[in-house]
Amino acid sequence: MRYHSTRGIPTDSVSLASALSAGLAPDGGLYVPASLPQITLPATVRPLPEVALEWLAPFFAGDRLAPQLPGLCADALDLPLPRVALGDSGDEVLELFHGPTAAFKDFGARFLAACLEALRPPDAPVQTILVATSGDTGAAVAGAFHGRPGFRVVILYPDGRVSARQAHQLGAFGDNIACYKVTGSFDDCQAMVKQAFRDEALRAQCAITSANSISLGRLLPQATYYAQASSARLAETGQRSNLIIPTGNLGNALAALLVRACGGPIDEVILATNANRVLAELFASRRYAGRASLATLANAMDVGDPSNYERLAWLYPGAALFETGLSADTVDDDAIRKRIVASDQHYGYIACPHTACALEVLARRRAAGDSRSWLIAATAHPAKFETVVEPLIGRRIEPPPALAALLARPSHAQPLDAYYPALRKVLLASNRG
Ligand SMILES: *Cc1c(COP(=O)(O)O)cnc(C)c1O
Repeated sequence: MRYHSTRGIPTDSVSLASALSAGLAPDGGLYVPASLPQITLPATVRPLPEVALEWLAPFFAGDRLAPQLPGLCADALDLPLPRVALGDSGDEVLELFHGPTAAFKDFGARFLAACLEALRPPDAPVQTILVATSGDTGAAVAGAFHGRPGFRVVILYPDGRVSARQAHQLGAFGDNIACYKVTGSFDDCQAMVKQAFRDEALRAQCAITSANSISLGRLLPQATYYAQASSARLAETGQRSNLIIPTGNLGNALAALLVRACGGPIDEVILATNANRVLAELFASRRYAGRASLATLANAMDVGDPSNYERLAWLYPGAALFETGLSADTVDDDAIRKRIVASDQHYGYIACPHTACALEVLARRRAAGDSRSWLIAATAHPAKFETVVEPLIGRRIEPPPALAALLARPSHAQPLDAYYPALRKVLLASNRG
């Protein structure tokens, strides 16, 4: 399989290994596969690494990484993937948060890290993975590269703007993970990172790599859990799945759409956003208009101009987007709070604020008379957002063991000014050290 940029011409293609190493295409576009292989999986209940190996094979075909695919799937994707029934409603929650940092991003970050390690020549200089994070991405990337020889991670997060547990988690890895709390916003952190990637003089001295969510190395493994879950549900119920997916930058949702486009047993997909309305407005007006992001309780989805929109427009060009069983709905903070309470009361199910957006959209569907059964993607463990969830449900949420272990470790983040030369100095100094 070859890959090309969403902004380029299909004949201008690169290998999977090159696309993974580059992250973003040189023209600023996102890499997409040159074709959509039709992948028919048996309707059986199987472990994720086994399904992933089969589903990913056409995407790795002919690449230098292909022989290593079994090991990559076994190492990176062997995480629990439970489906939890919501009472006797027939609906289920697909819990994607049982990895080391308790959010779905563990699947993608671990797989990308394993790929980059497999691609790294033995004598290459240390590679610096540079990430700006509003919380979950940084932790997943740190967890994925922690202790991997040949890599170090530099994380920037906005001081005071991530939850206390998220901040503790980011600073708790140590070793090859350096954590900086920036006196500024997430946008400031991201601007500094972007400037570093444009700084050719810096890059001549320091090998920096991105691990952000637009990398193919995160998108492809995320597709595998939808392939596994939809095949398993087909085996158990004889039915194809309808999905509701909490969405910010469209990475997780795009993975599900890719499975559907490759022939997977998925019918309707609904994108559930927080008060950032860009996708709901796209489907209402048939026009895309990115905007500045709003801060909400579901902060990992505070995106006003999702970068993966380019991949959505590639998958469904023009009016096709509006005729494909895809829609979006927006959920404000008040509705998030009420849904966290209602879901606990009705089903005894405690949702994080992101998952609550999807559960709210489900409730609206039910209220409108929709009787189909739905599969809801749950993106983070509620214990990660305890300051929002615990006061609403009136009790403490026990962190899962991996998160508890991180929270029990000492945590350290160095302060950094929101000023590019400060970051540049850090990158060059620790590169020598
Ligand atoms: C990152 C994240 C999201 C949004 O995922 P996208 O791929 O950007 O749509 C949703 N929920 C949680 C908990 C996240 O960490």
